[in-house]
Amino acid sequence: MATNKDGKAWRRQTQAVRGGQQRTPFQETSEALFMTSGYAYEGPEEAEARFKGAPGYTYSRYANPTVTMFEERVALMEGAPVGRATASGMAAVSASLLCCLRQGDHVVASRALFGAIRYVLEDILSRYGITVTLVNGTDPDAWRKAIRKETKVAFLETPSNPILEIVDLKAVSDIAHEHGVLVMVDNAWASPALQQPMSFGADVVIHSSTKFIDGQGRALGGIILCKEDFLNDHLQIFLRNTGPSMSPFNAWLHLKSLETLDLRMRAHCANATTISDFLSGQRNVSRVCYPFRTDHQQYALAKKQMSGGGGVVTFEVKGGKEAAFAVANALKLVDVSNNLGDAKSLLTHPATTTHQRLTPEARAAAGIADGMLRIAVGLEDAEDICEDLAQALQRINNIRA
Ligand SMILES: *Cc1c(COP(=O)(O)O)cnc(C)c1O
Repeated sequence: MATNKDGKAWRRQTQAVRGGQQRTPFQETSEALFMTSGYAYEGPEEAEARFKGAPGYTYSRYANPTVTMFEERVALMEGAPVGRATASGMAAVSASLLCCLRQGDHVVASRALFGAIRYVLEDILSRYGITVTLVNGTDPDAWRKAIRKETKVAFLETPSNPILEIVDLKAVSDIAHEHGVLVMVDNAWASPALQQPMSFGADVVIHSSTKFIDGQGRALGGIILCKEDFLNDHLQIFLRNTGPSMSPFNAWLHLKSLETLDLRMRAHCANATTISDFLSGQRNVSRVCYPFRTDHQQYALAKKQMSGGGGVVTFEVKGGKEAAFAVANALKLVDVSNNLGDAKSLLTHPATTTHQRLTPEARAAAGIADGMLRIAVGLEDAEDICEDLAQALQRINNIRA
């Protein structure tokens, strides 16, 4: 197969369209979907050579040409040496942790994490004798204090779910590296278009490609970006033998989605900005969280790390859960759904869905109020989304009047 030659030097958007492409002798312009689990050899000699490490494919749990194209493209966009795709974002998170940790090791993680990641850290790792300290990720000193000699990994997500706190990637990476600790960053909410954590020092970057990379709510997927030594020492052998492989079909969807990621992210950011401005002017809205608003507590840091504020806006309505549910029930265009990164605008009530497993005290500590709603702003006309929110907010005016 033919690969692109001068690829490494291309800019990010060119990588998004052409990076990692491999053409068959048919010279197809669009990337081919290799829906195959196995590969045939010219004879046993070739099979023997492949099993001894000669280039080429042997089995799709190990590697598949469509999946390889997806991995290479995201790696080029993130500025990462290598990438490995997985069946979902959670497969990527759990493989990254389990491949390198062993009994007696310690992990420091920011408290504001995707719910399933908290479960992996707190409930699964502890069964294998791996301990975890959760810290306020926005406070670099908290990371410094929590690191001890058994600490192997610092894990974080920025912006965080649902209140969009920003963790200082460079500060945390510098502290971790002083102690030989690996920094892992879940970059799903920013996407490779808006933030490249490796350029601030991260060692491993993880995505749920289910979200903005797919962009249309169709298929699950995940990817791990890392350096050659992490791949060779830990990840490759773990993935091959435990098998959380990405389907070639999903890899093909997500590969093609990367071509429009930048355009879509710009539109998500523009719509999210319009909607956060609209919400901040509503009398029944007491708080609006969006990283690129000047009233965001870490506005300057967000601007330093990200090239756009992202597609998620979180806001709090006056009147607690009852008012939040009334708003959600009154929506006619925006769907009630806990997913995000879709072309369709989706709204969720974090306290009773994504964060319902937390105790009320833990929710309060994470800043998640009962009146809080999270909107994953889609690609509809922003005026239609604002009108829908306006008529829904009107309902609670009536309730409260
Ligand atoms: C959705 C999500 C995940 C999990 O991804 P799946 O593809 O659903 O397994 C992990 N981290 C973040 C930040 C997410 O938004």
